[in-house]
Amino acid sequence: MSQDAVCQDAVCQETVRQDTVRQDTVRQAADQDAVPQDAAPRPAGDRVPAVVGDRGPAGRVGALVVAAWRDLLGLVVPVACAGCGQPDVPWCATCDAWLRGPASRRDHDAGRLDLLEGRTLLPVRAPASYAGPVRHAVAAWKDGGRADLDAPFRTAARRTGTVTAADVRRVLGPGAPPDGAVPVLVVPVLVVPVPSTAGAQRRRGRAPVEVLASAVAAGLRDGGVPARRSRALLRTGGADLAGLGARARGVALAGRVRVRRGTAVRDRAVVLVDDVLTTGATLAACHGALVGAGAHVLGACALAATAPPGAGRADGPARSVAPVVHGRREAG
Ligand SMILES: [Zn+2]
Repeated sequence: MSQDAVCQDAVCQETVRQDTVRQDTVRQAADQDAVPQDAAPRPAGDRVPAVVGDRGPAGRVGALVVAAWRDLLGLVVPVACAGCGQPDVPWCATCDAWLRGPASRRDHDAGRLDLLEGRTLLPVRAPASYAGPVRHAVAAWKDGGRADLDAPFRTAARRTGTVTAADVRRVLGPGAPPDGAVPVLVVPVLVVPVPSTAGAQRRRGRAPVEVLASAVAAGLRDGGVPARRSRALLRTGGADLAGLGARARGVALAGRVRVRRGTAVRDRAVVLVDDVLTTGATLAACHGALVGAGAHVLGACALAATAPPGAGRADGPARSVAPVVHGRREAG
């Protein structure tokens, strides 16, 4: 579900509303304190400052004022856990346990990925169920300006990438099927985020799923698979998918996802990344576009997946939490 999931839950909407107020206030403060750059025309031949990004003393003072504003606003509009509302913490340990599930296969529960007889279009792994605090937090992250959730979501996505690395190595590595069905693929693996509509990206000011894609690429590298993020796919208009059923999602996406012009994907190994797996319609459309251009889609990672219809329950937080050590910095 790459597009515009809007949680209807009252608690969730209130969290998003508070976060939006906070974000708007910070933005206004930043606007008011911004020091005009190049207010006077620079004489011809004037030297460009040697240090790129150094805004000078006035700019640094401006940045300090903005930082002070942010601290002050932390008192005026207090931070609360995006999952449960606990005050003074952006994401509490109890809610974080929901993200520490085993990154298991979820594709068998996604109707649009079903190829019958137990086979699916591609393996999809996700550490969490799209329920409870995860559902609230994803909504706040995508549409409430809660970019402070990047860190815990990145950690979960990175771990999912590492688990997926084992799947990828089975296809690419020495133990790959010898029947020639899979040609020699070019590495690094391309980690491709599902594309947002231009409207959604404008509204959010960024594409949150790209944060997850970078983390999955880092996780694949942790697992010994060379990988890098690639914005290989483009969404060309069409309706947002929130609230649509499986069939309507497929119709809304038909012909709307394509490989970006100038992006070489032929014979490349690809891992797709989405935030939430629901029906699988989005991943199926992305898979179709990439395979049509000659790529080999080996799997997908998501942050969370909806529970199958009739399951009666959603997974809760992980019972035992294994320590996850990520010492290496992401290389790219
Ligand atoms: Zn919480």
